[in-house]
Amino acid sequence: MSEKYYRDSVVEVDLEAVHHNYQAIKELHPDKMFIAVIKANAYGLGSTAVAEYLSARGAEFFAVATLDEAIELRMHGIKEKILVLGPINPEDINKAIQHRVAITAPNLAWLREAQSNVMDMDDKEVWIHIKVNSGMNRLGTSDPEEIGQMIDMIEGSEHLVYEGIYSHFSSADIDSEQNAKEYDRFKAITSQVRKPRFVHIQNSAGALRLDDGYCNAIRVGISLYGYYPSDYIREISSVDLRPSVALTTKVVDVHVLEAGEGVSYGLEYDAEAGDRVATLPIGYADGFLRARTGYRVALGDGTSCPVIGKVCMDYIMTKVPDTVQAGEKVHVIVRDRSSEQSMESYSNYVDTIPYESLCMLSRRLPRIYE
Ligand code: PLP
Repeated sequence: MSEKYYRDSVVEVDLEAVHHNYQAIKELHPDKMFIAVIKANAYGLGSTAVAEYLSARGAEFFAVATLDEAIELRMHGIKEKILVLGPINPEDINKAIQHRVAITAPNLAWLREAQSNVMDMDDKEVWIHIKVNSGMNRLGTSDPEEIGQMIDMIEGSEHLVYEGIYSHFSSADIDSEQNAKEYDRFKAITSQVRKPRFVHIQNSAGALRLDDGYCNAIRVGISLYGYYPSDYIREISSVDLRPSVALTTKVVDVHVLEAGEGVSYGLEYDAEAGDRVATLPIGYADGFLRARTGYRVALGDGTSCPVIGKVCMDYIMTKVPDTVQAGEKVHVIVRDRSSEQSMESYSNYVDTIPYESLCMLSRRLPRIYE
């Protein structure tokens, strides 16, 4: 499945693990539509590859953040339903219609403007999901009257179809009353209006912690890729997720230093005589942030080696044992959650979360599908 590439730093994606996670979460919600969230290039894994793999195994519905992401999937032949989660520009509604993409209506004003832009395109229609603000205060309306007017407008229009109503949790990943409050608010608002085919609020954390039947669809992103949204969710969840992403590279050069020599820009590392330094062709342009100096990568036998000196745009240097030669494979991120090179450790090291680490694996790293 992988295209040609000419470098030794690669993201290895285990699509079977993604499918395992899909099935494991689906088992918790057998009667709900599984909306696989593949925005941001499927959190860096490659949205077309993930969509192709999952749709060949029964996935029927995907979600992305932008109209461009949806069109990209259509251009690559993805035929399943796609919902754009972010409000598109109202004047672009005909593009959504043309590409058979479902869109999000955040409020009445947006809907009015979008509707006024619809061109008469024979029998073409666009599916609308109304966004409810249940507490996060990012997108959507919490006014049932406004929602009622939106539904009337959609149902009164030849080209619009009222297909969904949904919201997004602000705090589903932490142990707090806030999540129940937001869920109650969503139920209270949506029970005052006509229900469409799909009612949804659960993201990964919501899907892993709640199994009641009010909603009939779930929108799962991070856990599809094998990562728990937080330690709290990992503790309370019975689902065994399989991490899907590994990041590997290969030593391109080796230097043996004399006492007092330095390494990388500014020569900040202070060498001891005989230090063996391996250069790895991965840097901050690949998403390996400058703050990761000191992070430990692993050799094939598991020996861990610290990144020394400044992280460059295209390279890092690491202090290695005497046996290491150019060409040796090095593991930057591994799939074993208990490892010093797990996605969680890689993220914690720079005080971030797997979501951000995944999205920062830049496009110039080839994706290899296993
Ligand atoms: N729904 C919306 C609106 C989102 O913004 C996101 C992700 O940020 C998701 C669903 C998926 O969330 P998660 O990756 O936590 O499953």
